[in-house]
This record gives sequence, C-alpha cells and structure tokens, in this order.
Amino acid sequence: MKITLSDITKAFPVRGKKGADVVAVRDFDFTFPDGTLVGLLGPSGCGKSTLLNMICGLLAPTEGHIFFGDSDVTKLPPEARGVGFVFQNYALYPHLTVLQNILFPLQNLKGADKLSKEEMHSRAEEIARLVQIDGFMDRKPGELSGGQQQRVAIARALVKKPRVLLLDEPLSNLDARLRLKTREEIRRIQKETGITTVFVTHDQEEAMSISDTIVVMKDGALLQSGKPQEVYQKPQNLFVSKFLGTPPINVFDGKIKEGKLFIGDAAVLDTPDLENRDVYVAVRPEDFDLCPSGAFVCPVHRIEVMGRDTSIVFSHESADAPVLRALIRTEDIPNTGATVHFSLRRERIHLFDKATEERL
Ligand code: ATP
Repeated sequence: MKITLSDITKAFPVRGKKGADVVAVRDFDFTFPDGTLVGLLGPSGCGKSTLLNMICGLLAPTEGHIFFGDSDVTKLPPEARGVGFVFQNYALYPHLTVLQNILFPLQNLKGADKLSKEEMHSRAEEIARLVQIDGFMDRKPGELSGGQQQRVAIARALVKKPRVLLLDEPLSNLDARLRLKTREEIRRIQKETGITTVFVTHDQEEAMSISDTIVVMKDGALLQSGKPQEVYQKPQNLFVSKFLGTPPINVFDGKIKEGKLFIGDAAVLDTPDLENRDVYVAVRPEDFDLCPSGAFVCPVHRIEVMGRDTSIVFSHESADAPVLRALIRTEDIPNTGATVHFSLRRERIHLFDKATEERL
C-alpha cells in the first residue's frame, strides 16, 4: 500500500515563548510507493522521527493530510492504522520470553481480529522463522545479542501483519559488522513480505545500500528524492552532494568567466553553455582524471593505499576542506612529486550556483 504525505507541516510550541514554534517538518509532499523500501535520510534534528511519528499516528500534523492507499488516515489513532514500528532501542519486555514478546501484540486484538491461541502461536512461529529467531523462543531478551534482540523487535512489529513497517534508526545500537548483516536481513524480510517500509537513518551509506528510493531531508523539508544512484549522480543542491558519498565529495570555489570554469587562477574546463557567475565546483573522489597535462594542479600530501582503494591525498587553496581525496586505480599511482595534475570532465563534476547552492 502506498503512503501519501500531502503538504504536511508539524510545528511544536516552544515552552514559555508564545508564538515561537519549532517547525520540525514543513510543506512535506511525498508518496512512498507501494511495496518498496524508502530510506529517509538527513542530519540529526532534521525531522525524520517527527515524520515517522505522524505516519504511525503518535503525532498529529499541524497542517496537511496523510493517506494510506486512497483513504485519509490523518485523524485515525495509531492502533487503527495497521502500522508496525521498530525503535532504535528495541523496546522489548525484559521479563517476557522471545515467544511472549512476539505474541504480545496479538493478545490485544479484539472483535473480528481476535485470534485463537493456536492461531497466535502459529503466527508467532511463522514470523520468528522469517526473521530467523525461531531457535531462541524460550530465552529472555537479556540472554540475546543486540542483533538477535533487534530481530525480535522486527518480529513483534510484523506479527500483526501491518500494512506499513516503520523503522526508526533500527541499527544504531549494533556494532559495524552486525549493522551490515542486519541491514541485509531487513532488506530480505522487506522483499519477502512486500510490505511498504520506511527506514530512518542518518547514515547515508546504510540508506543507499538497501533502499529502493531515498529521501533526503534538511531542516524539516524534503530536498531530493529518487533512486539512490540517481541522487548520488545528480544531486540537486550542494547539501545533498555533500551528504552522500564516502569519502565525501570535494568542493571548490569557482568562477565561470567567458565560457571557462576557473578554480583559483587556472582555467580547468570549457563551459560555453554557462554565463559568468560564481559557483561551487563539486567533484567526487572517483571522478578526477589523472593527466600529466591537466590544468588542475594541486599539491600532494601523500598516497594512501587501503586494501582495494588508493587515494591521492591533496589540498587546494580554493577548497572548503584542508585535505581532499581522489580515488585512483592502484596501477595508476603517479610518481609522487610535489604536485598532481588532474583534468576535469563536464559530465563528472557538479556545478552549483554560489548564491542559491542549486545545481546548474
Ligand atoms: P535525530 O536523527 O537526532 O533523531 P530527527 O531528524 O529524528 O533527529 P526530530 O526528532 O524529528 O529529528 O526533531 C526535529 C526537530 O523538532 C528538532 O529541532 C527537535 O528539537 C524538534 N522537536 C522534536 N520533538 C519536539 C517536541 N515535542 N517539542 C518541541 N520540539 C521538538
């Protein structure tokens, strides 16, 4: 089932300051497509959790409407929405076994939804198998690893067969290795169930690796959405370009003058299609071309070989960071002189207007 957010705004009143609201989410318009996994991504405080809480009904929007499929659920309470929610801290009942934790949401079902004891157990076992926790049904949460606890939390969210699954930073409490494994698991479970899923994270790599679509937020607003690779390759503004990618994109102050792009005093590229203006020039580490006659000349600090990747670590006086990185193939390592020469290609750099920071 698709979820549509139509012009959603959420303002919180500030205690003691009449009229001075914190706008956590503003004018948010987006449709989460049916059966897909959408990664909601943005820095701390950008409104991700507020948005999730509005989808599940724990918070009411100040303005706008929320639709599940074609029905308006804006005024429906959480229990009537059919949403499964997984929190960062698992929120399991410590005194109950895994089985009892998974059964818990089913025991509160009423009326036509009420299940017999046998039905509840068979549903719990089916979900436990899906998340591969069926070998631990008699343990208490304290006797499980963090990853296993998170699986129980996912099982508990899925056992009522929700129409929507919301995951709020579900991997934050896991170590790096387990994060990788668990995110693959979430992807598998989402594919097997086909349930529309919203996955909140501030980790861009995590979002890019498992999402069908990513949504990048800043200050409560939607900046860009699309397939992860499309957003990575064509960021619509400087913020999105900097938010995605590790090592981060390299950003330089530049100038378009008489059909040429200048970085510092060097004319590094012909840009006959652009008018004179100040720009930011953003180049991903993998998008520099080594070229002995290249016009873009930078002082080299060192060469770093890290497993598969080799980086040239360099600097430039027009850059916004003290050190920059170009990723190259190990066989292309240049004779490390004091400088390195790059040539830039129009289709592999990103130009943003200096004033608006929007893509040119
Ligand atoms: P994080 O990644 O740190 O969890 P987030 O993107 O989920 O952050 P939110 O928790 O949605 O961000 O908060 C968005 C903004 O709204 C923040 O500035 C926060 O301080 C503010 N905010 C959230 N809840 C309330 C509240 N109940 N009252 C006042 N302000 C709030």
